[in-house]
Amino acid sequence: MELRKNYINGEWIPALSGKTRKILNPANGEVIAETAEGNEEDVKLAVSAAKEAFYGTGEWRRMDSQKRADIILTIAAIMEERKEELARTDTLDNGKPLREAEGDVDDAIHCFRYYAGMIKAPYGGVYDVNDNFGQMHSYTIHEPVGVCGQITPWNYPLLMAAWKIAPALSAGNCIVFKPSTNTPLSSVILFEIMEKAGVPKGTVNLVMGAGGSVGHEIAASSDVDMVTFTGSTEVGQDIARSAIANLKKVGLELGGKSPNVIFADADFEGAVEWAMIGIFFNQGEVCSAGSRIIIEESIKDKFVTRLAERANAMTLGNGLDNPDMGPLVSESHMNTVLKYIETGKEEGATLVCGGCRYTEGDCVNGYFVRPTIFDNCTRDMTIVREEIFGPVVTIQTFKTEAEAIKLSNDTIYGLAGAVFTKDGSRALRVVKEIRAGITWINCYNPTYNEAPWGGYKMSGYGRELGIQGLEEYQEVKQININLNPGIAGWYEER
Ligand code: NAD
Repeated sequence: MELRKNYINGEWIPALSGKTRKILNPANGEVIAETAEGNEEDVKLAVSAAKEAFYGTGEWRRMDSQKRADIILTIAAIMEERKEELARTDTLDNGKPLREAEGDVDDAIHCFRYYAGMIKAPYGGVYDVNDNFGQMHSYTIHEPVGVCGQITPWNYPLLMAAWKIAPALSAGNCIVFKPSTNTPLSSVILFEIMEKAGVPKGTVNLVMGAGGSVGHEIAASSDVDMVTFTGSTEVGQDIARSAIANLKKVGLELGGKSPNVIFADADFEGAVEWAMIGIFFNQGEVCSAGSRIIIEESIKDKFVTRLAERANAMTLGNGLDNPDMGPLVSESHMNTVLKYIETGKEEGATLVCGGCRYTEGDCVNGYFVRPTIFDNCTRDMTIVREEIFGPVVTIQTFKTEAEAIKLSNDTIYGLAGAVFTKDGSRALRVVKEIRAGITWINCYNPTYNEAPWGGYKMSGYGRELGIQGLEEYQEVKQININLNPGIAGWYEER
């Protein structure tokens, strides 16, 4: 089995310690690859390469913007050529159904194209300032932040890499990137593609390895100017603490426990299917998952019956066979989800369907969990309060709009939320009251490269995607020009 190496300063190299890690297919527990297992020393090497590339040669940030855009477009073009391989890799690595992985690859390609185009967009502003010190022209320019450390989770391996790398490159930064240890393989391909597309040496660096060593070193290094992280709230807090050392810029895209509010007048079958998309898409391993269904009491029983009927009919299997749901990412994550299910039962929620591991046929050695619905949930239950990050949804009811809003916001998180109703004014009223960065009306989960993505409250800060996603990777500099060079006349000559 060929070792997948780190990519540092334009070279593919094994971990300095020589250590490696075996990567498993969660559908059957088989080893599918071996990767370099880096540590702090590999990060130091990568950071010094990125530092030299940014502050030394400065080749990427100084490169003609059209040429830079062309290279990013070439990355997208090669991704397109290797699309099938990228999608299969994410399915093998993460478990997700192939058609979902294919959608991720399309989105990732679009993300690079979108930010290639943005290089040419006008930015900065011109300001009308007073003439206390003479006539001035005051304007701003946007510059790259410098060396950006980027750390991603395992639920959307390629897409999360694209969300971070595309805007950072577009803004002219140099990068040290760390994928999740569970799912590094599509990132290796992406780095091969960036090398082939002509990204200059040292501009993009890949270090694979554990969060506690590689991730921590990236967040703590004083030579890193910014760290962006997508992952759990707990690790996000750790990263923010580490980043304090040199007051580096921080972007955090963290967990969620998002409300899906359904009124009695909603399109019934539509609300059922979108609720499934909200919680069973990507096995429920989605930060924005609609994991708390908050439904008007009068239709709750009918809705839960229908949702359970459809959930029970869902197919589980190897992602390559395109089932409705694949396995969870790892054995340990499956055990965490199963433990939450036990806690739900112990705390008195009613298990309507699922609630167990699935081991039929080819799934015998995989990490599959049946789609799970808990009814009669209350605000104090662990399964209502904590992010489970699996195919488990809780049901709570309301009688009034005010109650629906109160329940929606009864969480430490603020990532996403949705409302289903045919009453347009009510939909807007409720969505405006939900304290979250990503919201939907009469749908759940669609995400667009053009629209900023990020959370309120403990779901993090900063935004990815959209124009805001580019600005995160930029510093703003004001330039004040004296239009009448010469003495200011402020101090009297004595
Ligand atoms: P995680 O926090 O365990 O790990 C995320 C990344 O951080 C991994 O690369 C990991 O190796 C690294 N890491 C772990 N400990 C670290 C440390 N001490 N210092 C630095 N890096 C460290 O999260 P996960 O289990 O990979 O992903 C699931 C979580 O990600 C969920 O909470 C989910 O909500 C969140 N998520 C959020 C978004 C979003 O956009 N808001 C998107 C996807 C996932």
